[in-house]
Amino acid sequence: MISLFNTQIKTSEADDVYSVLDSGKLVMGPHVEALEHELAAFYANDGAFVTCASGTDALTLCLEELDCRDAVIVPAMTFSATYEAVLRAGATPIVVDIDQETGTPSSLQVQSAIMHAIEDGYRVCAVIMVHLYGWPAYDLIEIARLCDLQDIHLIEDCAQCFGASLDSRMLGTWGNAAAFSFYPTKPLGGIGDGGAAYFPSLPMAKRARARRNHGRTEDGQMYPGYNSRLDETNAIVLRNRLSRYGRSFDCRRELSLRYHAGGLAKLSFKRNGRGVPYVYPILVDNREAVRFRLADIGV
Ligand SMILES: *Cc1c(COP(=O)(O)O)cnc(C)c1O
Repeated sequence: MISLFNTQIKTSEADDVYSVLDSGKLVMGPHVEALEHELAAFYANDGAFVTCASGTDALTLCLEELDCRDAVIVPAMTFSATYEAVLRAGATPIVVDIDQETGTPSSLQVQSAIMHAIEDGYRVCAVIMVHLYGWPAYDLIEIARLCDLQDIHLIEDCAQCFGASLDSRMLGTWGNAAAFSFYPTKPLGGIGDGGAAYFPSLPMAKRARARRNHGRTEDGQMYPGYNSRLDETNAIVLRNRLSRYGRSFDCRRELSLRYHAGGLAKLSFKRNGRGVPYVYPILVDNREAVRFRLADIGV
């Protein structure tokens, strides 16, 4: 039996955890630093990853570093944390509905939400696009363009899509900042809570790195921050899972293709790009009956 979620700890991982415990360096040590470099190397990009205590904190770091205190456009269908982060950053979430075929807002829906917000007297500082179920928000390219034209920040909520791409460009690198979650059931899951913010701008990453550690910079400056650090024990396990991440997704891709070929595509959302099929959502009228029938045949 293959466990598709990262909730089972292998013996080698337990050994890794023990080696960290034995070292006595439990918080903000060499594994957190190495993980941040390896995440950036995996993304083969000029930007930087800043690890933190959760995906929600990562989103909050993105909003704070971009100084978003006004209206932020958020898709109607997402996990509640997307909204929580906006409120915590002191901004106002404005809901944009989703397209029923893709499960994500279309560029027209986003544009009209921006226009309505402005008519209502808001200053729109950001649009958050959520890449649900491991797949790109369908209209990402067009939405990135319209944000760019109107000087509105684009933040990608990548909690469910680590490693996915669109047009050979990694999700998370399309906008001004992105947030990832390492919660155990997420595509790259750790052994507890964790997350990372991605910034294409290195000065922003540097500030966020200080902010998540009580505002302490390496050169000894202080400014208001908080505690949102990733544990070393989690970092060492995440480093190892990252090093074999590609292989764990080959298996999910194969299952997803099998479902697709078997006819489930028409019950699911329209998608594009190269996803990391993290869950396979289907829409049915008789949810419970379908669930029991699937359980009966071992799915
Ligand atoms: C899981 C998730 C988050 C929050 O991540 P946590 O690590 O649980 O704080 C945010 N957005 C989406 C879309 C998620 O799925």
